[in-house]
Amino acid sequence: MDFMLTEEQELIRQNMREFCKNFVDPIAVEIDENSRHPAELLQKLAEGDWLGMPIPQEYGGAGADQLTFVIAVEELSRSCASTGFTLSTHAGIVCMMFLLFGTEDQKKKFLIPLAKGQHLGAFALTEPAAGTDIMAATASAIIDGNDYVINGTKTFTTNGPTAETYLVFVWTDKAAGRKGMSTLIVPRSAPGLRVGEHFKKMGLRSSQTSEMIFKDCRVPRENLLGKEGMGLQMAMTGFDHGRIGIAAQCVGILQAALDESIRYSKERVQFGTPIARHQAIAWMIADMATALSAARFLTYHAAWLKNQNKPFSKEAAMAKLYASEAAMKHTVKAVQIHGGYGYCKGAKVERLMRDAKITEIYEGTSEAQRMVISGNVLR
Ligand SMILES: Cc1cc2nc3c(=O)[nH]c(=O)nc-3n(C[C@H](O)[C@H](O)[C@H](O)COP(=O)(O)OP(=O)(O)OC[C@H]3O[C@@H](n4cnc5c(N)ncnc54)[C@H](O)[C@@H]3O)c2cc1C
Repeated sequence: MDFMLTEEQELIRQNMREFCKNFVDPIAVEIDENSRHPAELLQKLAEGDWLGMPIPQEYGGAGADQLTFVIAVEELSRSCASTGFTLSTHAGIVCMMFLLFGTEDQKKKFLIPLAKGQHLGAFALTEPAAGTDIMAATASAIIDGNDYVINGTKTFTTNGPTAETYLVFVWTDKAAGRKGMSTLIVPRSAPGLRVGEHFKKMGLRSSQTSEMIFKDCRVPRENLLGKEGMGLQMAMTGFDHGRIGIAAQCVGILQAALDESIRYSKERVQFGTPIARHQAIAWMIADMATALSAARFLTYHAAWLKNQNKPFSKEAAMAKLYASEAAMKHTVKAVQIHGGYGYCKGAKVERLMRDAKITEIYEGTSEAQRMVISGNVLR
């Protein structure tokens, strides 16, 4: 068993850290406060070949393995969890689904601009009445001549207002149950597609989240990804990949919480001594550091399994479950360590705590992860 990262992986970590110092840290507070999509930062990420990291070079990507990609998402999230999530959704789920299920023509037409960062991707599964219970979805598509005609509403679509390419999950044969859903590629320019409500959120505010409304929206039949009826299976595969990305996002949040807690507790003096010397504070930091290591190992393990082409669905769910709950718990502790200052705008831990909460909800709630894990271990 080898726990060492390769030289290349260490270099990627350093490069991303440098990138964050130059381009992310200077705007992270402002884009959170204004809930602003940082188009200029996405442009820089594209120029640095970060947006197609796990995609082979022949399709416009950087050809990195899953663990290397995880390290980049982790480092980016350490500076800005919103941008880390944008990268994870775009490259880790949308680009990955094109790579796994797309035809050669679809890869040329859609994946290359996505992987080069010329277009942003989105994954539209959730509906107003269908979150965890995705079988309650109602969006559907029927064939009319050479087109699919889509009707329905998707909600909470990350990158909804900013994406060029959407993967949309619709019933093509509702009566077939789990084998009745299909995935359609919908370009932003498709007639009948409209961006609905933009959500104002507690955290992750510079990541854009919206409703997507499809009214007699037409896409050509060749925009079917994979085969008809494979949509649900493909969505679950997308989640398996995405959950490793969310776990990496949580590791970045945890690392930032630890960095801030160590720095502040050494600076802040109460009762004539830095608060780090009070055992209650030192033990909170010890627990945080331990949780960070555990979260990182679970996350890297899931990524390593994917690199080995071994099953990783259970491990991705475990990593996401553990890392998200640890991120929530320990960002609350980080605020506690900062006292009143931690509760005020301007303290990074305040943003980290707000950003951490969503990681327990999206790409399957903690309860959904426990369903996946127990389903695997109780088989
Ligand atoms: C910021 C943000 C970004 C998102 N991005 C995307 C995206 O890009 N694409 C996309 O498709 N979706 C996205 N989502 C949607 C997200 O995946 C859903 O919010 C999530 O799956 C939960 O669904 P829900 O909100 O409808 O909650 P519900 O499913 O209504 O759940 C409510 C509560 O009930 C619990 N619950 C539900 N069923 C059970 C059960 N059987 N047993 C035990 N407990 C249960 C849940 O765990 C939760 O605690 C995003 C959401 C947010 C907030």
